[in-house]
Amino acid sequence: MQNSASLVVVLGTGGTIAGTAASSSDDRGYTAAQLSIAQLLATVPDGVGVPVEAEQVAQVDSKDMSHAIWQALALRVAHHLARTEVAGIVISHGTDTLEETAYFLQRVLAPVKPVVLTGAMRPATSAQADGPRNLRDAMLVARHASSVGLTGVLAVLNGVVHGAQQVRKAHPTRLDAFDSGEAGPLAAVDNGVLRYLAAPAPGPLPPVTAALHCAVADWPRVDIVVSHAGASGAVVRALCADGVVGLVVAATGNGTLHHEIEAALLTAQAQGVAVRCSSRRGDGRVAQPAAKGLLEASDLSPVKARIELMLGLMPPGAP
Ligand code: ASP
Repeated sequence: MQNSASLVVVLGTGGTIAGTAASSSDDRGYTAAQLSIAQLLATVPDGVGVPVEAEQVAQVDSKDMSHAIWQALALRVAHHLARTEVAGIVISHGTDTLEETAYFLQRVLAPVKPVVLTGAMRPATSAQADGPRNLRDAMLVARHASSVGLTGVLAVLNGVVHGAQQVRKAHPTRLDAFDSGEAGPLAAVDNGVLRYLAAPAPGPLPPVTAALHCAVADWPRVDIVVSHAGASGAVVRALCADGVVGLVVAATGNGTLHHEIEAALLTAQAQGVAVRCSSRRGDGRVAQPAAKGLLEASDLSPVKARIELMLGLMPPGAP
């Protein structure tokens, strides 16, 4: 599909990519979310030869990402996607929760144009900053992905293009910190050229647009608990007493649960709390139901299963 729209809108949200340190040799002792998206764009090598528009939506270290920012971001993305002159969107984001924001936007918007998240493992002041190159690659993908059949929410880091469902941060410090697990990446950006690697993905799930309109304070509270050696049901009981309406459990092995946490989850479910069973392993889909009577969270990681369950429990609200 040839895309005649050419404008790329770049939305800034903070992160290490916008971080600064006192010295250009310091890649660790920096403060995230200091530079504006306009300042970051000024560092991109050679531009991308397409018109670019920038907007600051938030300025946070993404470890502190909130539902309120998610909603504001989704509304700005939806606004820009509706403009005929826009080919795609880039979102500059911290790497810590990038995979969660990607999955949220995919499930709320199911965009038909590319929405490309990127970030950096080194601050903007680093002598070897990776942000400028990542931003450039992301802009290129936002401009050209539709023409090779790539749409929806993507993540581009270190020259690799990942889908929103699979992308995950797999290493705390390396430049190639992201992967797509067993599924593998969708494409690569090599010296300014987008190369498509994967077979076309099946069509996206219909979007859950309620999250665009429902007041954030009314979003259903869903938390994550982990099954581990020596686990008890205490955390589950405390969360239920505190008003949680949904729980995702990160299970061991092939969807197994410590018997104490399993008993507490079954009790919570009987009391009306929605429970989904995900896996604390990185790869492989659970091949058997986790526990008698608990639903499986398909192949989603615990943090993405939390988003899916929260959206599933969201009151429909007015469009
Ligand atoms: N803590 C930073 C953030 O997520 C890490 C990063 O961006 O790489 O905003």
